[in-house]
Amino acid sequence: MINFNQPPFVGKELEYIKAAVDNGQLCGDGKFTKMCAQWMREKFNVKHVLLTTSCTHALEMAAYLCDLEPGDEVIMPSYTFVSTADAFVLRGARIVFVDVHPETMNIDETKIEAAITDRTKVIVPVHYAGVACAMDEIMDIARRHHLKVVEDAAQGVNAYYKGKALGTIGDFGCYSFHETKNYTMGEGGALVFNNDEYLERAEILREKGTDRSKFFRGQVDKYTWVNYGSSYLPSEMNAAYLYAELEEAEKIDEKRHAVYDLYHSMLRPLAEAGFIEQPYVPEYADHNAHMYFIKMPDLEKRTALIRYLREKGVMSVFHYIPLHSSTAGMKFGRFVGEDVYTTKESERLMRLPMFYNLPMEDARYVAECILAYPEFRA
Ligand SMILES: *Cc1c(COP(=O)(O)O)cnc(C)c1O
Repeated sequence: MINFNQPPFVGKELEYIKAAVDNGQLCGDGKFTKMCAQWMREKFNVKHVLLTTSCTHALEMAAYLCDLEPGDEVIMPSYTFVSTADAFVLRGARIVFVDVHPETMNIDETKIEAAITDRTKVIVPVHYAGVACAMDEIMDIARRHHLKVVEDAAQGVNAYYKGKALGTIGDFGCYSFHETKNYTMGEGGALVFNNDEYLERAEILREKGTDRSKFFRGQVDKYTWVNYGSSYLPSEMNAAYLYAELEEAEKIDEKRHAVYDLYHSMLRPLAEAGFIEQPYVPEYADHNAHMYFIKMPDLEKRTALIRYLREKGVMSVFHYIPLHSSTAGMKFGRFVGEDVYTTKESERLMRLPMFYNLPMEDARYVAECILAYPEFRA
């Protein structure tokens, strides 16, 4: 059976976890946490990186730092993971969903302005599949309407928009290091930002409402409870796993692109014959091969192909059920404008196996199975 995902393992993870244990500090903000943050600051050219227990938690921190009040509105695509919305709902915000571009499945920036009201506070672009949203246009809308931008870059770690790392363009960027993402620590994430003004509050939020971070830098004698907060810092063992992966980021990136390119070239004839659609990457985006998806003509045909692949020993999956049609989405949000693509495209999209340790011959087998699908014979 060829799995859809397998957590990446590059080589030194266990050695570094042992080193973390030997260092005698297992809780957060030790040596490995700092090395991960430093690595990201340099690689992504961003001033502040706070490692967190998940991208969901990074989004929650960003939602806190946006100072939302109950009834404030947050604009995002409906085609995304639940956490994108949940983090803001926890702050009492109303979610305003707008449609996506069918080619990238990213928020359609031309639909954003019509969704803005006097309660709107934040825009949340989600860089689906690690392919950048139209950030110049989105930042321009945000500037003109005095809105904050929180980038859900869970899938966009080490992907770029006009040379800028995703997550570093808006007010805040949120990364995921869940085991399904390009670089992992099991469960984990990071909050990244450039504005120094957020740093102190962000550290306090992450450290149970205390100024423990300042204490460790020797800036205060003892740490105390200074504001509300939670516990958003991951343990050193998780950070050690991540550091081993970040060190090999190039290798991971190359392998994922090799799988992506193989699928893309082998399946092209099917796209040319009109049986499937393939992903599209705009000129301005340098993606990170986070996923490879194809689109079938409709839901029924997609279900049939997923079933056929399973019979051949290949796991392929679909996602997301649009948030605006979910129980919570109807309660906490509304869709503005017409749902031209969100539902329709979400029913056609399916993801093929894509992970660092996927043998190339397995990827080739996946593509060969699809090429041999009887329905694709003219
Ligand atoms: C994976 C993912 C998340 C959540 O990440 P966690 O680290 O699991 O909390 C949020 N948004 C998007 C778009 C994701 O793909």
